[in-house]
Amino acid sequence: MPYDPNNIFAKILRGEIPCKKIYEDEFALAFPDINPKAPMHVLVIPKGAYADHQDFTIRASAAEIAGFEKAVGKVAKMAGAAEGGYRLISNCGANSHQEVPHYHVHILGGRALGPMLAKMS
Ligand code: AMP
Repeated sequence: MPYDPNNIFAKILRGEIPCKKIYEDEFALAFPDINPKAPMHVLVIPKGAYADHQDFTIRASAAEIAGFEKAVGKVAKMAGAAEGGYRLISNCGANSHQEVPHYHVHILGGRALGPMLAKMS
């Protein structure tokens, strides 16, 4: 998927749309999901322009990938999810229903989250 610089997370990174910043470093920005699906639902996005997980793993440097992954772990801990446990989700591609075409990881926690997916029918 080609990167669309007008996606909402790109606008947040440029400061054109506000967010409640939880964490920021050279590689990542974290903020609460506007439509939380769990008591703790935080998004972590890379600073670079990557459309999804595939794009990120193919084009990002090893330093960006390591820095981003470290940030996800830090944010989960800072948000209080590390003790009780949490789930990471990153939607990628048509089957996943990815809504925002800037790579991001959802951190979900704050309660028992149940099975990973609804049972296949
Ligand atoms: P995905 O379906 O994986 O692309 O998830 C996109 C997520 O971004 C959804 O959970 C939305 O609720 C969330 N979202 C969309 N706009 C904003 C925003 N301005 N601030 C925070 N979260 C947002």
